[in-house]
Amino acid sequence: MKLKSINPATLEVLAEVETTPVEEVFEISKKAQEAFKVWSSTTIDERLKLLKRARDILYKNQDEIARLITLENGKPILESYSMEIFPSLDLFDYYIKNAKRILKLKRVRSQIPLFWVKRNYIHFEPLGVVAVISPWNYPLLFPIAPIISALVAGNCVIFKPSEYTNLIGLKIYEIFKEAGFPESVINIVIGAGDVGEALVDSHIDKISFTGSTKTGRIIMQKAGTRPIPVTLELGGKDPMIVFDDVDVDIVSSSAVWGAFANAGQTCVSVEVCYVQEKIFEKFVEKVVEKTKKLKVGNGLDPDVEIGPINNEKQLNIIEGQIQDAISKGAKILTGGKRIFPKDKNGNELKGYFFEPTVLVDVDDSMLLMREETFGPVLPIIKFKDEDEVVEGANISEYGLSASVWTKDKRRAKRIVEKIRSGSVLVNECVVHYGDAKAPCGGVKSSGFGRVHSEFGLYDMVNIKFESFDFISPYRLWWFGYDEKLLGTIKDAISFLHSPSIGQRVKSIPGLILNLFRKDESKI
Ligand code: ADP
Repeated sequence: MKLKSINPATLEVLAEVETTPVEEVFEISKKAQEAFKVWSSTTIDERLKLLKRARDILYKNQDEIARLITLENGKPILESYSMEIFPSLDLFDYYIKNAKRILKLKRVRSQIPLFWVKRNYIHFEPLGVVAVISPWNYPLLFPIAPIISALVAGNCVIFKPSEYTNLIGLKIYEIFKEAGFPESVINIVIGAGDVGEALVDSHIDKISFTGSTKTGRIIMQKAGTRPIPVTLELGGKDPMIVFDDVDVDIVSSSAVWGAFANAGQTCVSVEVCYVQEKIFEKFVEKVVEKTKKLKVGNGLDPDVEIGPINNEKQLNIIEGQIQDAISKGAKILTGGKRIFPKDKNGNELKGYFFEPTVLVDVDDSMLLMREETFGPVLPIIKFKDEDEVVEGANISEYGLSASVWTKDKRRAKRIVEKIRSGSVLVNECVVHYGDAKAPCGGVKSSGFGRVHSEFGLYDMVNIKFESFDFISPYRLWWFGYDEKLLGTIKDAISFLHSPSIGQRVKSIPGLILNLFRKDESKI
């Protein structure tokens, strides 16, 4: 069977890609398990050498890859560089520089004096075969993070790109193959949900999933029956909270960019903007004025700011949410419908374009306030004070990211602490996802586990405790229980934990006498 790869701006077919038969997915996973036996025993230096080559290939081919991202995903070419190539290279560099330090064997000394004769270590071992299942909105950046961290930690990877961005998926696979990663260490399977399901059921040891909360739940249920660990990077309904002490001109520009970059198809995009009442009218006016100026069109034109929605299914979700909001009383200030902009030659583009949309008079009964919209839609809500806005922001079932805009440092700190989400940015939005050192992930229905940073690497390893003892004789706590041993244990508790110094000192003689019991008293 073949899947069509479609340019969402023009609806032209870019290529047809052969899907992976479900039975083959199992074969691929078996081979990956075999490859893991060898790959897991390579040194981190060997793996880093290959990773550096992969980075260099991405760097060298950045123009071709950025163009392909715009062709298949639709985002403006500038964003293909700034939001895909740039942060992907940053991730490569971060792990190339830091993975060895993060994964180094760690010596740990016990708190318990009796254990001081042991040599204890934390060993970061690879988990096995990791399934990386990715969405279409960041077809390079999203898969590249778990692929890099899984491989550098010594895991094998089976990567399933979204069915809407197979060509970029294949390009990522080629990069790692060309870099010299051995046969079956990096693998790709092509297909829709059925292939993803087969992958989840195959011989894998961990799933790193980025996508919708709905699919995340299905995957977690399946993983739970085995059970295998999952990292779930799911949807968000990120609030932007704007207090009345800000520079309205600057912050309104941020709202427009945060909501409409990548046509709003970013999990950490601004999904709803709360603005304090004193500046509400002025802020809304500025946002509308700036939104009207945005250039919608084919992302290959360098001055286009809003590309198409990636696929028809997503376009229908956005249209449905807008209709629902209008029917329940929302007021559209600009945008609100599908359009067919002209290209630079004056020809009408047939793709999935949706006007950047600003609305007010929204409430919690509307779908767009409860569910992720994932489109160029910005509802703006008026608020009075801190308590009201925190309650509004926390009401969402999601908790991926949030932003707070104010000049008041104390207030910023208060709000940051009260918001339940994976990250909160002050006077900034969205960009932390492009910073390799920032752990990204969510709470509540936005998922759990983290990508990027050292935590993204710890997500890909078995944190194994290893303890070596070549010194201790029979142990105090073994069988042969009696009054005397009970007294010794109680003395040990007093010595280590009593709040009274006197009590601690009193327990010492008994402890010393009984610490090393005779062998014959043991069973
Ligand atoms: P989106 O619509 O944002 O792409 P999805 O959750 O539908 O989000 O898809 C994300 C990824 O999960 C895609 O690669 C898709 O093919 C895959 N997928 C969809 N359904 C399943 C499933 N039941 N099991 C595993 N993977 C799936």
